[in-house]
Amino acid sequence: MNYNDSIRTIKGVGEKAEKAFHKLNIREVGDLLEHYPRDYDEFHDLVPIRELKEGSVMAIEGVLRRKPSVKTTSRLKIITAFVEDETGVVQVTWFNMPFLVSRLKMGTRYILRGRVGIRNGKFVLEQPQMYNKNEFYKKVGKMLPIYPLTAGLTNHQMTKAVTTAVSQCEGVVEFLPAEIRTRHHLIGYRKAVQDIHFPKNRVDYMKARKRLAFDEIFLYQAALRAIRLQNYHESCHVMEPKQEVEEFLGDLPFALTGAQKRVYEEIVTDMTSGTVMNRLVQGDVGSGKTVVAVLALYLAVCNGKQGAFMVPTEVLATQHYESLQKMLGKRGVRVGLLTGSLTAKQKREGKEKLTAGEWDIVVGTHAILQDNVEFQSLALVITDEQHRFGVRQRETLSEKGDAPHVLAMSATPIPRTLALVLYGDMDLSVMDELPANRLPIKNCVVGTEYRPNAYKFMKEQMEQGHQVYIICPMVDESEELELENVTLYTEQLREMFQGIAVVDCLHGKMKPKEKNDVMGRFSKGDTDILVSTTVIEVGIDVPNATVMMIENAERFGLAQLHQLRGRVGRGDAQSYCILMYGNDSKEAKERLGILAGSNDGFHIAREDLKLRGQGDFFGVMQSGDKLFKLADIYEDADLLTVANEEAKTYDFDEISRFYAKNRRLSEKLNHYMGKVSL
Ligand code: ADP
Ligand code: MG
Repeated sequence: MNYNDSIRTIKGVGEKAEKAFHKLNIREVGDLLEHYPRDYDEFHDLVPIRELKEGSVMAIEGVLRRKPSVKTTSRLKIITAFVEDETGVVQVTWFNMPFLVSRLKMGTRYILRGRVGIRNGKFVLEQPQMYNKNEFYKKVGKMLPIYPLTAGLTNHQMTKAVTTAVSQCEGVVEFLPAEIRTRHHLIGYRKAVQDIHFPKNRVDYMKARKRLAFDEIFLYQAALRAIRLQNYHESCHVMEPKQEVEEFLGDLPFALTGAQKRVYEEIVTDMTSGTVMNRLVQGDVGSGKTVVAVLALYLAVCNGKQGAFMVPTEVLATQHYESLQKMLGKRGVRVGLLTGSLTAKQKREGKEKLTAGEWDIVVGTHAILQDNVEFQSLALVITDEQHRFGVRQRETLSEKGDAPHVLAMSATPIPRTLALVLYGDMDLSVMDELPANRLPIKNCVVGTEYRPNAYKFMKEQMEQGHQVYIICPMVDESEELELENVTLYTEQLREMFQGIAVVDCLHGKMKPKEKNDVMGRFSKGDTDILVSTTVIEVGIDVPNATVMMIENAERFGLAQLHQLRGRVGRGDAQSYCILMYGNDSKEAKERLGILAGSNDGFHIAREDLKLRGQGDFFGVMQSGDKLFKLADIYEDADLLTVANEEAKTYDFDEISRFYAKNRRLSEKLNHYMGKVSL
């Protein structure tokens, strides 16, 4: 039996069980081996009846005193018995096990193990298992696995299948070099697989977990490293520094912040160095990443090359297109837009211009990735809001040029350890400074009774010529309801602000073109209040907007709220964020308090991570499923650092050889590569 064999090769797994296994995504023996217990049932020694405690699973040994009674209800057959030892008597019940009645013998000693409940003020041992002495003592001290299950599979079946797989799978052989294992005190692979399922005690479990968590992180890091090394070429786009870029800098209406200057210099160093740039710029919302991207693009264009700027939404693409047009158009740079909502003719013409080299820069959405989009001399690829793209998409874009330079930009603030994991050894630039003209956003956390005051406050702000965002209460039932909700809310506001303010509305059900129009009107200042669902979230830049009110703020994650708040405070006017909760639980208030207390995205991300654990954090960033099965980026920060160091010592051939040896590993590598979002 081997990793890639179907689970049907396991004795006892038939067609029916197979279906259930499939529901859990277990198809091959290897999947089963990696279906780790979600918890363990620790098998303790017998306790005297007097010492039973409610809620725990406990074992007693005693004599059956009375004839068991059977009660039948419409759905259940309940057997009740009483068992006694030297210290007391306890009631025992079984449901739907009528055959027991004839088996239970008065005056006989039994070992019974079950959960201790309470009924009518007295302890009851519920649904206990029966053991003979031998069986029982073999289990004492052990930890029995409790697996995630699905309908049609019992824990017993799962345990049996895993037992067979663990003992018979030949592929479970060591793959980590001995020196790594020694350095980090890691137990052997085979033992780790055995012990994660069936540990003899806590210590063994911890050792097994450490080894397997290390593997996950190490393999992931190796995957990142492989990607990195593949991309690490001598560059055929070695750029020269250009006078025009300096002039352009002088033309900007503002001076760059220290952080912008530093990051731009890092980018110039990369692009002029002779190797291909592979850099991630992390900067909090509003730190001014766009202009840094524009500088890099302009440098490429001045060197006679083309650049591509890919963003996740049409609205953002249009916004970036317009600001590039404004900044670079007058310098003779030909900027084009390519998105899904253009007409077929527009798209065709755009593509022709790109291929002919008549566009220097293209701004666009995923539409740029299409097969028939070809460049004449693509030398720089930039992705904005990179966490919305997977590494494969970024690679697809890169392949449209001859090893172009790559710049990824992200506003999702991630603690350093996490950045290390997610981005491997991609070069990291951090923009940790906001433009000097910014006043810190003033925050408040309020209940819905504050709403009239909030509207009054908005009115004052609008009288001063500013604009307002309102994020509408969320409805989770359905998209239709959400739509109805936004529309209704907008209408109410229109009535209330009649003759005072122009109210517009933005939601996910609109066509890209409609969204663009709404955003266009808002950024021109034709609209005063924009009521929106969270589609507004990424990247939008309207510096004149000074109020962000978020209804039902308690329903959002902190990272997301921080992004939403980042839509204001982008100019030199004082801005405000009103976090309104619809449910004033202590927990909700506490969470919102973190946000009210700080405008620093990195601080917020750390707190968010502490509060919610990595699962949810990744939920925000990577649409759902967890990156690792065992390793926890927060808890295993130390392991992360060492695994990263180890992975760094390998060159590409070594990594390839390493994986080529083992199909399972190469599959894992692939799996992780798909998950990397650089
Ligand atoms: P983000 O980092 O969130 O993408 P943007 O690049 O959209 O931020 O910049 C936010 C706003 O700040 C824009 O209106 C931009 O013109 C302005 N801005 C950028 N850099 C500076 C600076 N150095 N001084 C003043 N304003 C700046
Ligand atoms: Mg941005």
